[in-house]
Amino acid sequence: MLFCKPASTPLTLYVPMKKKMAPDAKVHQNVMKTESDENLKSNAPFRAEIQWRNVAVNLFIHLGFFVGLYYIITFKLQLKTFIYFFFLTCLCNLGVTIGVHRLWSHRSFKCTRPIKLLLTFFYTMAGQSSIFHWVQIHRVHHKFSETLKDPLDVNRGFFFAHVGWYCLSYHPECETEMKRIDMDDIKADKDLMFQYKYYSHLFTLLNFLSVLIPCYFWGESFKIAFWVCFVTRFAINFTQLNFTNSANHFIGKRPYDKTQSATDNIACTIFSFGEGYHNYHHVFPYDYRTGEFGDIGHYNLSAVIIDFWYKMGWVWDRKLVSQDMINRRVLRTGDGSHWLSHDEAHKNSIYGYGDKDIDEADQKELERMIG
Ligand SMILES: [Zn+2]
Ligand SMILES: [Zn+2]
Repeated sequence: MLFCKPASTPLTLYVPMKKKMAPDAKVHQNVMKTESDENLKSNAPFRAEIQWRNVAVNLFIHLGFFVGLYYIITFKLQLKTFIYFFFLTCLCNLGVTIGVHRLWSHRSFKCTRPIKLLLTFFYTMAGQSSIFHWVQIHRVHHKFSETLKDPLDVNRGFFFAHVGWYCLSYHPECETEMKRIDMDDIKADKDLMFQYKYYSHLFTLLNFLSVLIPCYFWGESFKIAFWVCFVTRFAINFTQLNFTNSANHFIGKRPYDKTQSATDNIACTIFSFGEGYHNYHHVFPYDYRTGEFGDIGHYNLSAVIIDFWYKMGWVWDRKLVSQDMINRRVLRTGDGSHWLSHDEAHKNSIYGYGDKDIDEADQKELERMIG
């Protein structure tokens, strides 16, 4: 979602579209095109087209990461620049995890306009395309996971789910669903539509500023600021997202639903501030915590910040799954790795009165004996 748009509507990070259409007009045009294309190609096997521009940007970002890393590990940058780079990376990642993911893609809570604008600011700096486009892809990913309609279809391999999909045109079935998915809430939001319309300009402006700040305020060299605070920071944010799409569908446990590819993976959780409980998240995508536990002990910094904003009155309507609902799902479809699924936990051992594992007849007997 950083680089790639459907082949018929290229939108890239660095090259602005020549003439930007409103999402409605674009959707209509694409539907028409797709239908006629499908008629023409109904019997032809699908062959993805390589998006060479996105391949080039991908290569630049991944190789450029090492240039910035070189300046960091050889201490060529000032300490102030490193601290600035560290916090900027975290803030941009939170713009993705709290903003475009939990707030706009899943509508898992509501917030004040200043919070929305703050999240928009850092999300746009993170540079993962317009909010509209990110949400569109992510909703289709959840609705049609592991099918040809899924833009990140893990059946096409780890590399495809990680970065390959940015470099190829979408499958026609996926394109169709992208046009069908409900985006009315995003279209109705003037701020988000402004971000959509001027995304390329805003991205360029914010990142230019992010490089100028260390140069202007503490005299960092432009070269170091560019490679560390823009390219390396960008690559880390990009990779935080990509591992959620790849590793989080391949490596880890499936405590809530063993039939889904999505996994709970602690390394991804730490790296992405709480987004790695992906098995849970695919089962309960409306839960603002995106995991069973929303505390710092479970590395869920994104949920902790949402809770803090809730206490301040800046966030409300947090959607939350009850523990009963989680427990039922674990016992019904989990892979046995959740503590509730352990034999001792739900068969022989009883923690006290009211434990659901107490035999029904025993429970009735107990109720009679209460004195
Ligand atoms: Zn999601
Ligand atoms: Zn997923």
